[in-house]
Amino acid sequence: MMRCYMWVFPELRRFASVRESKIALHKAAGRVYLAGYFIGCSLLAVLAGGWRVIQSHTGLPELVLMGLGVAVAGVGGCFGVWLGRKRICLLLRNQLNDQGIPVCTRCGYDLRCLRDNRCPECGDIFEPLA
Ligand SMILES: [Zn+2]
Repeated sequence: MMRCYMWVFPELRRFASVRESKIALHKAAGRVYLAGYFIGCSLLAVLAGGWRVIQSHTGLPELVLMGLGVAVAGVGGCFGVWLGRKRICLLLRNQLNDQGIPVCTRCGYDLRCLRDNRCPECGDIFEPLA
């Protein structure tokens, strides 16, 4: 399973051991999934409350509204996964920097042995680690 996570989040390979990368992933993903859970619950509550209002105002048949609901949920879900991955990557890169392993927080490039304080991959300027 960890190999699968390492494929999705290549930052995990930079941690000193598999155990440390597991701890880092739990730290990073825990916050993201909690936020996603609350956003998802809020969206469901709004949908549940707004269902009858939408139907009474538009006069659309229930089947069409259900189709639209599924489509919106699918697109929202894909967007959530994409946004979550970006956020988890950023949290993992911050953890690597905290542990003294320099990586670009914007693109994940390995910043060891660089003379410049500019990322050669994305051009982002970074503060050298002490
Ligand atoms: Zn970069």
